[in-house]
Amino acid sequence: MTDISPTLAQAEAAAGPALTFADLELHPLILGAIADAGYTSPTPIQRDAIPLARRGRDIMGLAQTGTGKTAAFTLPIIDRLIDGPRRTRALILTPTRELCVQVEESFRKYASHAPISVVAVYGGVPLDPQEKKLRGGVDVVVATPGRRIDHLERQNVVFDDLEVLVLDEADRMLDMGFAPQINNIVGQIPVYRQTLLFSATMPPEVEALARKYLRKPVVVQVGVRSAAASTVTHAVYPVPREKKNALLVDLLTSKVHDSVLIFSRTKHGADRIVRDLEKAGLKATAMHADKTQAQRTRALQDFKDGVTSVLVATDIAQRGLDISGITHVINYDVPQQAEDYVHRIGRTGRAAKEGDAYTFMSPDEIGMVRTIERMIGTPIPRVSVPGYDFGTVAAD
Ligand code: AMP
Repeated sequence: MTDISPTLAQAEAAAGPALTFADLELHPLILGAIADAGYTSPTPIQRDAIPLARRGRDIMGLAQTGTGKTAAFTLPIIDRLIDGPRRTRALILTPTRELCVQVEESFRKYASHAPISVVAVYGGVPLDPQEKKLRGGVDVVVATPGRRIDHLERQNVVFDDLEVLVLDEADRMLDMGFAPQINNIVGQIPVYRQTLLFSATMPPEVEALARKYLRKPVVVQVGVRSAAASTVTHAVYPVPREKKNALLVDLLTSKVHDSVLIFSRTKHGADRIVRDLEKAGLKATAMHADKTQAQRTRALQDFKDGVTSVLVATDIAQRGLDISGITHVINYDVPQQAEDYVHRIGRTGRAAKEGDAYTFMSPDEIGMVRTIERMIGTPIPRVSVPGYDFGTVAAD
């Protein structure tokens, strides 16, 4: 695409890389909240994106979750809104309810010293409480596209004063079929605004979206586009499909794991894994689309609070979750899309914490693992567990 220039981003970033949050010249009330959060220095995406966003540029941020991308757009928005009129001036669209709540929490955290109000609106819960908050007036609305439209139709919120639009995890929103809703919403907000688009991957659909809604955007890219978080230790366990459960139980019982997020391809599979783990005396919770919103919120909270140390999730949990301190991700099934591997392991190794990512590979999944290795640009070490590896099994 012609109007998006990576070199400009690199040049601008190279011109003045800031090393501390104070160097980014954020409002003192924000610096206080950052200090409370215990952050000592900006992550690369924050260092690159915040100065550009503060200058009012449109940004296309190529960054996966775990890079600190949420603060990269939250901080400059708070900085912009802090002294201005109290109207709804920023809208953030996110693909999932979980991400919506997390972005809202980030706003609350970073605006804890500032007079900024934020509301999250998402589906699966009654409209009324959200409606009440919106009608009371808020500075920032974080929404999933479907629910946003409900409120627009009911005229609960006016976007005449909107100054900043964020499309977070744009690739995921398009994957989920939200293009019509996004078009509808953008059609109802001011044309003269700042637009920030974040995406972990850049398929042609996302490029087209950027071309449509961003004005002379600067591309800010963290590391290699598809690189996996560098603090994650990867391993592939070759294992026949029918022995995956036994291997999982063995791995989880053989050493202490503080918190493990397991990805299953299907809901049914997730439930079966939970049952098998429970039979083996391990407490685990499933989280997937058949669970009610209340059950999903509860499952996530229990996992965060350490009540449950094993969470078995399908792809709904793949992005949008911010679970700091996860020590392990296990791909019980090899992800169907190579990009999903990067997203999944983005759950661990977040913001430079150490984490492990194990992938169980049955013979029919060898090709998919090779595709992933090509995408991340490095082979993933194989760990052969005697009695499980299909080489060993074949010799039995
Ligand atoms: P995100 O990529 O936005 O999902 O953020 C990933 C995690 O990094 C979150 O748990 C943030 O609280 C944390 N984080 C964001 N910025 C920083 C920073 N500058 N220093 C340390 N941790 C951070």
